[in-house]
Amino acid sequence: MGITSIKDLDLKAKRVLIRVDFNVPLDNDCNITDDARIKAALPTIQYAVEMGAKVVLMSHLGRPKGKAVKTMSLVPVARRLSELLGTSVNMAPDCIGETVRSMVNGLIPGDILLLENLRFHIEEEKNEPGFARELAELGDCYVNDAFATAHRAHASNVGVCNHIAAKAAGFLMIREVEHIEKALKDPGRPFAAVIGGAKVSGKLEVMENLVDKVDKIIIGGGMAFTFIKALGQEIGNSIVEDDLIETALSIMEKARAKGVKLYLPVDCFCASTAKDGQEVVVKTIQEIPADLMGLDIGPSSITLFSEALEGCNTIVWNGPMGVFEINAFSRGTMEIAKQIASSKALTIVGGGDTDAALHESGAIDKIDFVSTAGGAFLEMLGGKILPGVTSLEI
Ligand code: AMP
Repeated sequence: MGITSIKDLDLKAKRVLIRVDFNVPLDNDCNITDDARIKAALPTIQYAVEMGAKVVLMSHLGRPKGKAVKTMSLVPVARRLSELLGTSVNMAPDCIGETVRSMVNGLIPGDILLLENLRFHIEEEKNEPGFARELAELGDCYVNDAFATAHRAHASNVGVCNHIAAKAAGFLMIREVEHIEKALKDPGRPFAAVIGGAKVSGKLEVMENLVDKVDKIIIGGGMAFTFIKALGQEIGNSIVEDDLIETALSIMEKARAKGVKLYLPVDCFCASTAKDGQEVVVKTIQEIPADLMGLDIGPSSITLFSEALEGCNTIVWNGPMGVFEINAFSRGTMEIAKQIASSKALTIVGGGDTDAALHESGAIDKIDFVSTAGGAFLEMLGGKILPGVTSLEI
């Protein structure tokens, strides 16, 4: 990793602009329902304060699409951050503009100011140079600790780096990059990737790249049905991406050619819709009734996947094995979570759903590394260069 650490910067009395990931889930009353992302950024923020920096934090929250949407304000985050740090955190009314500039210039060492949601400005996601320059003017140094956004080239993580020479990665960013690099560089073998979730589309490229690196690919969740249909089988009403059947076939062909063992579910829990309180039946993949959907991997698939994971020395996991949010379809995900957690392998897990499932299963503490990221985690696993990481190179 050719990037500098925050520890290499002189932060004393400097305005330190830190890109964090405070994209936390909120309920209808704008209460934070999971503050893990705020907690994950604390070491970097606390370090900057200890070093006598004037700390300016910036983040996005949700998808306001360039408009100031009140329900996506970072005000609740400032409140929670202040509680966690035991010190006051000031909130700016915007992330750019005259008022913000004068608030930043009025900071004294040890102060913390949180800027309002970056994505209230459409220029953020467009990586618009003028907007990036305005952000950069708020800092003497720049620190990026938002690994979860590193697969996107936005103004606050890429554009801004063109305007500040003193730039570095925060502790969370370094931890994430180092763990994933370690898994990829010299993985203990056998190396297995467990991939689930609803859609193949977001994960195709990653799967294609993973075939070059792993010894086993285990595919569960809704996406498995695109692969099963590609093999010519009926899948009832299960979700499927018909336009990706050819690609699924080519991934399976590539795996075969490389000697990578590819596992698909052999049975599933089926129901007519993804809701609790209806009749659920276990069916083999060959016998899914035409009017039912496969909503979780079945007991035989749990055994198959568990046996495939036994003896592995590296396991990466992203995506649930079924509709785990609903009790009746959560068993596969929970059992695979426990299996991975009890493995002696180096275990690396990423993605919000997977993280939530691990919390629920009580197995999270036994995982070697849980990434805070979904997309960035997968893209880096797939061997992609992340613009939010390379922009920190000097
Ligand atoms: P993704 O965003 O692609 O990682 O998908 C995560 C979502 O996949 C979760 O909300 C699950 O409920 C959903 N999911 C997993 N398995 C299935 C399935 N068999 N059918 C429909 N949805 C599923």
